[in-house]
Amino acid sequence: MKISICAPYAKERFETARQHSFLHPECAHLADRVSVSGLKYLLDGTPEERSAATRVPCAEDPLTSGQMDFPLEELRAIFREAQQRNVQLLLHAIGDRTTETLLNAMEATGGPGAWSQKRLRIEHGEGVMSDLVPE
Ligand SMILES: [Zn+2]
Repeated sequence: MKISICAPYAKERFETARQHSFLHPECAHLADRVSVSGLKYLLDGTPEERSAATRVPCAEDPLTSGQMDFPLEELRAIFREAQQRNVQLLLHAIGDRTTETLLNAMEATGGPGAWSQKRLRIEHGEGVMSDLVPE
């Protein structure tokens, strides 16, 4: 049986993140059974830490609405690089503000025509609200 794993989360851009896209040399003997594909980016935090980026403040802490770890322009750059290098993106996106931002970035980098075959995956997805899903 062969298994596939994705590169660990990357807060850095591709040049650094790409270094994680290969099996660690100590695991080279597993190469016939384990492959590494895709890059996972953590776009925001978690509800438990109140760090998922939301459109409205947290009910328990009205001064908090989380934060995104990448500004929109950087997200667009990551998307363009993924398209150019044909790398699958796995996006940790929990907050609805994060989801809205990443969907806007997808639209700005080609929309459905550019992304439908790229297998970009939103992980967790609690922020995928009905008003954000295109018709
Ligand atoms: Zn995650």
